[in-house]
Amino acid sequence: MTELYGIFGWPVAHSRSPAMHNAAFAHLGRDAVYVPFAVAPERLEQALGGVVALGVSGLNVTLPHKARVIPLLWHVEPDAVAIGAVNTILRDGDRLIGANTDAAGLARSLSVVGVPLAGARVVVLGAGGAARAAVVGLARAGAERVVVAARKPERAEALVASLSAAVPEALLAHADLGEELSRWLPDSTLLVQSTSATLESSPDAEAFAAALPLDRLPETAVVCDLVYQPRVTAVLARASARGLSTVDGLGMLLYQGALAFERWTGEAAPVGVMRAALES
Ligand code: NDP
Repeated sequence: MTELYGIFGWPVAHSRSPAMHNAAFAHLGRDAVYVPFAVAPERLEQALGGVVALGVSGLNVTLPHKARVIPLLWHVEPDAVAIGAVNTILRDGDRLIGANTDAAGLARSLSVVGVPLAGARVVVLGAGGAARAAVVGLARAGAERVVVAARKPERAEALVASLSAAVPEALLAHADLGEELSRWLPDSTLLVQSTSATLESSPDAEAFAAALPLDRLPETAVVCDLVYQPRVTAVLARASARGLSTVDGLGMLLYQGALAFERWTGEAAPVGVMRAALES
């Protein structure tokens, strides 16, 4: 019987996950299909009941459901609880289990291109959901310390306070985007841009990038932007112009999907095929 997978979002038409997963299924000759489901927030619980009733094999969850789904699941894995977001749901019979593959997906996307994470000294820009996933993922992958820098420093402070018990592996600190950020950068090996400021190529995005003191980073540092549309964000363009190595956000999208695929199916994800589907 054809296995059914899907993604819940609202809206969901823009999602690249169906193309990525359907390409993987086709490549492996697996009788499975991955479908986008537009689920209105007030229908989330009902839709999850449908997942069990219809025998859906596995699910992704995107905005605005990533946090709201947590109390509706039978079990949520510790990293997803710490991050406060579920992006992957696994089925165990009639039980739904919440997981988060964004955090490990980011770490995998960096390590596969040779960015050293063991002992890394990281600055994460932003204090939203992506920043939380980045802090957890990089700490679990061996980062020595992670500084969260945000335009509202109290949000960075709150993020660090809420994660420090769950993430004992790394020293966590917080900073503003001005003088404090400037002081941390010379001792950093990796800068992860996790705000939505670079989401479009715009004068605001340019101004945000221009205000970052990238010249304070060591020349061996790597700059990663989690935003993948545009692929070359204003921050990555400036980092490249300075001669720094850069990593775009498509890898995180790819590897969160690959990790979800592997957990659902038990098969190695065909990442080359999945990447090609994302890029087409
Ligand atoms: P949130 O809305 O939760 O957080 C956005 C953060 O960006 C907030 O800290 C916000 O600050 C900050 N911000 C927005 N504009 C500016 C600005 N001009 N200057 C400084 N800070 C700013 O979004 P997410 O954390 O969920 O997502 C952030 C980005 O990460 C998204 O644009 C998304 O594309 C990308 N992402 C990529 C993924 C991938 O797989 N590659 C996965 C998830 C996200 P404030 O609180 O002050 O408003």
